[in-house]
Amino acid sequence: MHEISLVRTIFRTLEAEFPAAGLDGLERIELKVGPLSNVETILLQNAFNAVVEEEEQRFQGVQLQVNLVPILIECPECGQRTEVENYRFVCQCGRPCANVVQGNELMIERVVFKS
Ligand SMILES: [Zn+2]
Repeated sequence: MHEISLVRTIFRTLEAEFPAAGLDGLERIELKVGPLSNVETILLQNAFNAVVEEEEQRFQGVQLQVNLVPILIECPECGQRTEVENYRFVCQCGRPCANVVQGNELMIERVVFKS
């Protein structure tokens, strides 16, 4: 499952960025996920729980929060940014537009440590 490897990548990224001792105080991981990233929140949560349970017990109790962001397009004709609903890629000015400026994200947005 593609979500399992995503979760493993998240843990490897955190290990590369923070000293091991610091990660013991990890409380919450917040991800920024766009609809075009092909990630299902529920599958990601399930994968996270499974990986923590089976491979990464040291992260037990850490929360995964998925922050969904909308798709935004920017029209090259009029310069306006429009939020895409129902995958309808049309600018407010009426022109079709495929210039996506937000919506592909799949990234660690924030990590929160216990105080
Ligand atoms: Zn426009």
